[in-house]
Amino acid sequence: MKPVLPGAAAAAALVLVSSPVLAADYAIVHAGRLLAVPGKSVLKEQTVVIKDGRIAAVTPGYIDARAAGASETDTVRVYDLTRKFVLPGLIDGHVHLESELSPRSKLEAVEKSDAAITLDMLDNARKELMAGFTTVRDLGAGDEIFAVRDAINAGRFAGARIFAAGPLITPTGGHGAPHGYREDILETMPHYAVCNGADDCRRAVREAVSRGADQIKFTATGGVLSETAAGTGVAFYDDEMRAIIETAHMLGRRVTAHAHGTNGVNAALHAGVDSIEHGTFSDDESFRLFKKHSAYLVPTILAGVTVTEMATPDDTFMPPAVRKKALAVGPHILDMVRRAHKAGVKIAFGTDTGVSKHGQNAREFPLLVKAGLSPMEAIEAATVNDADNMGQSANIGSIAPGKFGDLVAVDGDPLADINELLDVDFVMKEGVVYKSK
Ligand SMILES: [Zn+2]
Repeated sequence: MKPVLPGAAAAAALVLVSSPVLAADYAIVHAGRLLAVPGKSVLKEQTVVIKDGRIAAVTPGYIDARAAGASETDTVRVYDLTRKFVLPGLIDGHVHLESELSPRSKLEAVEKSDAAITLDMLDNARKELMAGFTTVRDLGAGDEIFAVRDAINAGRFAGARIFAAGPLITPTGGHGAPHGYREDILETMPHYAVCNGADDCRRAVREAVSRGADQIKFTATGGVLSETAAGTGVAFYDDEMRAIIETAHMLGRRVTAHAHGTNGVNAALHAGVDSIEHGTFSDDESFRLFKKHSAYLVPTILAGVTVTEMATPDDTFMPPAVRKKALAVGPHILDMVRRAHKAGVKIAFGTDTGVSKHGQNAREFPLLVKAGLSPMEAIEAATVNDADNMGQSANIGSIAPGKFGDLVAVDGDPLADINELLDVDFVMKEGVVYKSK
C-alpha cells in the first residue's frame, strides 16, 4: 500500500468540513438521436446530463433538472436537440496549429515572432473547435504550443483541447529539421530535437518531455514538404528508433512515427511504435506488423489530396524537390488505406491540418468512406479510436459518465450521409456551448 502523508490527509479533511457548499453547473441535453458510443447502436430520445464539465449520466427519455439531480441553488441550462443527431465531440489525431501551408510559408518561418505564432495557434484551435473537433493532437510545433495548450485546457480561451507532441524528433537533415535556408539563418531556427545516435536520441526525447510534450513524434522517414531531395525512405537507424521509443515509454509517453517509405514504416513498427502517421507505402508485411503490435494507422488522406492539388498542374507553389515528392506520395494514400482497412489494420482519424486549411478537418471523413470504411467506422476512427491512440479513453471519445461533456450535433444522419459532418450545427465542450445554429 502507498503511504499517505498524515499532514496532507488532515488538511484535506479540514477543507471538506469548513468549505461552503458550492453550486454545481448543469448542462442538460435532450437528444433526438444519440450515438453515445460510436460502433454501438443509435439511441432515440435520450438525455445527457453534464455536471461541472463532465458527463454525469445518459438517461432514456427527456428528463428535467430535478430528475437529473440538480438542486435549487445549482445553475442549469437545458438544450433542445430533439430534432438533431448527437454524437461525441470529434477528435483530429494529427494537426499543426502553428501554421497553414501557403506559398509564403517559407518566408513566414523566418518572419513571424513567437507572439504572432502563439496568436495563430489560438486562432486555429478555435477554428477546429467550431468545425466540431473538441480535441486535437498537435504533432509538430515550437514550444509556444505548450503555453497555448495549457491556456485553452484551463478554459482561458475558446479552442479545441490540445494534446501536444512539441518538436519532431529527427536526425540531421531529416523531416522536421529546418531546410532550404542559408546556414547562418538555419542556426537561428529551433533544432534541439535533432538527434544522431541512440544516446543523443534519448536526450532529445527527454528534452521534449521536460519542455512539456504529452507524447513523442519522430520522423522515421523523409517528408514531402522538407526542402531536400533526400526522398521519403527510412531516415533513422534501428537502434535510434528503439532508443526513442524506449525512452518515451519509460517516461510514460506514447510514440508516433511519421513514415512514408515501406522500409521506414516497417522498421518503426518492428521497434515498437504505437502508431504511424501517413504510412503511404505500407505493404502486406506492414499490415501484418500493424496488427501484430496493435499499432494504429493515422492515414491523413486529406494531406495527400492537398499536396497533390498544390503540385498539379505545374510548379508555381512548391520547389522542385518538394513537388516531385508530393506527386509520388499524395495519390498513393487513399489506395493504401483501402488495402489497410481490408487487412484489418486499426485506423485512427488524422488530417495533418496545417497542410490543408484549419477548420476543414472534417473533409477527411468522405475520403475515409471513399477508401472503404463505413460511415460508422469513419466516426469510430475520429472518436473512440483516436481516444485510445492518445491513451485518453477515460476522458474523451464517447458520451459516457465520467468523460468530458464534449458533443456535437447535426441535422441529418451522418451514418446515412457522412457529408453531414462537414457542417456541424452544434458544438459543446465540457458542457459549454461554442456553436449553435
Ligand atoms: Zn504532420
